[in-house]
Amino acid sequence: TTTSRTRDTQIFDLIAKEQHRQESGIELIASENFVSPQVMEAAGSVLTNKYAEGLPGKRYYGGCEVVDEVEQVAIDRVKELFGASWANVQPHSGANANTAVFLATLKPGDTILGFDLSHGGHLTHGSPVNISGKYFRPTFYGVERETGVINYDVVEETAHREKPKMLICGASAYSRDWDYERLRAIADSVGALMLADVSHPAGLIAKGLLNDPLAYAHIVTTTTHKTLRGTRGGLIMLRNDFENTLGIKTPKGELRMMSSLLDSGVFPGTQGGPLEHIIAAKAIAFGEALTDEFYDYAVQVKANAQAMASAFVDKGYQIISGGTDNHLMLIDLRTKGGQTTNLTGKLAENTLIKADITINKNMVPFDDKSPMVTSGMRVGTAAMTTRGMKETDMVQIVTYIDEVLTNHDNEAKISTIKTEINAWMKAFPLYA
Ligand code: PLP
Repeated sequence: TTTSRTRDTQIFDLIAKEQHRQESGIELIASENFVSPQVMEAAGSVLTNKYAEGLPGKRYYGGCEVVDEVEQVAIDRVKELFGASWANVQPHSGANANTAVFLATLKPGDTILGFDLSHGGHLTHGSPVNISGKYFRPTFYGVERETGVINYDVVEETAHREKPKMLICGASAYSRDWDYERLRAIADSVGALMLADVSHPAGLIAKGLLNDPLAYAHIVTTTTHKTLRGTRGGLIMLRNDFENTLGIKTPKGELRMMSSLLDSGVFPGTQGGPLEHIIAAKAIAFGEALTDEFYDYAVQVKANAQAMASAFVDKGYQIISGGTDNHLMLIDLRTKGGQTTNLTGKLAENTLIKADITINKNMVPFDDKSPMVTSGMRVGTAAMTTRGMKETDMVQIVTYIDEVLTNHDNEAKISTIKTEINAWMKAFPLYA
């Protein structure tokens, strides 16, 4: 009979298989990365056994002395990393962090203004299938058709027309930096709160390689597992708590600090007990991100993205907005070298995976195909930079991608490329 002491080979065999998949292929999904062994060790630690509803020093359970210290270290490190004055590290994911912010600061039916999902925005910024689009009135701004870049004059016009209670910036597939200063001015001009969701570029922001959202946004949310290279999770930050009350009052008529509203938005608003094992893993990742080594990593992520973008352009591919400021790019596959192709995002994703190259299909702005097919593919350099790859390796990856896409109906050719890639990846050991 099976007992709790019998090793569950069914699952551990699958984990080993997944590790092999991760180690032997080229990982270009822009939202993924590889955590360090110590981050994984903490995520699999005894802290998973502990209930700790509440905050350090203010818990609803006994025996929290140790996890209190762990969570406080995570908070202190992330504040130092981003120059925040307050942080809540409990959100289980980026989506949870955003939902907690909405619950804390908005009322059902309030208008929100976010970046259009079909232009690279995120589901949690007002999509009709997400709570943000069901409980609030979502309105959107997008990129310009000709440039692929956000026109802030149009954002301003839209804000004046729609009068949102919250202006949201941040994206899943936008390769350009954001003008947070301008967005804050727009938010102020309509009396809206500004939320910056920096999930994708957080690691680059932390090292000063992109504009600083905390200098302008009332509230900043992020995931911890993309360019920040931590365990899967989310967090919320503030820099200027005192100016963030915006007149939000308790039932007794007292002004409440934004930090206190947000803490309640997380727990008990949208979550129960925090995952202290994951918070420990976040703390370790924040510690790693504070090092000079991580600065070098972040610089390389950007340099690799630029090298990759140039290599795609050299082969005739069309990158939305013409290039990248961060770790990712969105490629419109409908034309190559000025000629129409028969490629779709779906075909690219399904073909590249046969050569062990993982990308994701993605809508491009003004896409004429459905979200299940799409005309684009999104690629990012965070994961392969962790593997130790440099600019020349990005050029090699683009050569492989181009060969596979050009020969998408030639199974023999794709199989040869896969063998070559599997051998090549041995030069970039991961968890050896
Ligand atoms: N916000 C943005 C901008 C994202 O890109 C993502 C994830 O891709 C999320 C939020 C959601 O994060 P999670 O998948 O951890 O809920």
